[in-house]
Amino acid sequence: MSGSSPWLEEAKASIAEAHAAGRMPHAVLIQAAAGIGGDSLATWTAQLVLCTARRPDSLAARSRSGQPGGGGGPCGECVSCRRVAEGQHPDLTAVRLGEDSQQIRIEQIRELCAELALTSHQGGYKVAIIDPADVLNRFAANALLKTLEEPPPRTVLVLVAAQPSRLPATLTSRCQRIRVRRPTRGESLAWLEGTRGPGDWNDVLDLIGEAPVAAASLDPAAVGTLRAEALRTLGEIRAGAADPVQTAESWSRSELPLRLLCLENWLTECIRRGLGASAHAPELRATTHSPSADSVINTRALFRLLDEVRELKVALAAPINRSLALESLLRSMQA
Ligand SMILES: [Zn+2]
Repeated sequence: MSGSSPWLEEAKASIAEAHAAGRMPHAVLIQAAAGIGGDSLATWTAQLVLCTARRPDSLAARSRSGQPGGGGGPCGECVSCRRVAEGQHPDLTAVRLGEDSQQIRIEQIRELCAELALTSHQGGYKVAIIDPADVLNRFAANALLKTLEEPPPRTVLVLVAAQPSRLPATLTSRCQRIRVRRPTRGESLAWLEGTRGPGDWNDVLDLIGEAPVAAASLDPAAVGTLRAEALRTLGEIRAGAADPVQTAESWSRSELPLRLLCLENWLTECIRRGLGASAHAPELRATTHSPSADSVINTRALFRLLDEVRELKVALAAPINRSLALESLLRSMQA
């Protein structure tokens, strides 16, 4: 992640201040919506703690002297900082979701705790990143709680979670919570243009939401094409001119999450139009791809469909028959 991310600055400042003052908590819980850079803030925190170029003493001195930057940050250039960025630092352990797994399991946490109990290679801190932490299963969370209750000296655990409420309060209460605010549209656009260059980023963000880091992994032109094609197909399905079975099959084969977002946005737009008409809402944002007024299905059915799309999005990674679930959803859209 490059470029300036002003929406992370407040969080960075509070972590750096605690670190500089020698009050670095044993456990930090970074609360950040998906796709806005919670992972890069976790990496930055690991760099801060493991950086060998800026010692805490000099940071504290700088902080006391009132120089800008408060607690300062990691240099980003020393061997330690570079190894952390590459995920190769011997005193940094990262726990992530395994392939095809929806949970972080107790074995992963046991391994982590055993690793944290060892002496650090560099003679300083040991750092663990658990990302995403809100998918710790119950057993894993219990195992982690033991370590949080009696943390080995000079260890820092960094948990990243979009929905910390999914974690037991016994666990979250042991962590210092750092909330990352959502970027504004202007910040997202500036960051995307700085990181990825010019493009129709506004359209990408309209589709996926205010998640610039997630947007950066997409190609705006390809997203535009996909969106236009998905909306055309949805119109055809409504008119009985496209086959839900074929559509479900082809959608399931590629870019299903993006296509479901198109469907979700399409339904939301239908609902807004329907509600707008009845409530005389003066302003409805018209887009070139808005469903036409005559395609407005009854609002209750639309809400039901919207619920189904959202359920399908959540279930996406689970081993369900995506094509079948999508097919039944598309079928119920037919006029
Ligand atoms: Zn450094």
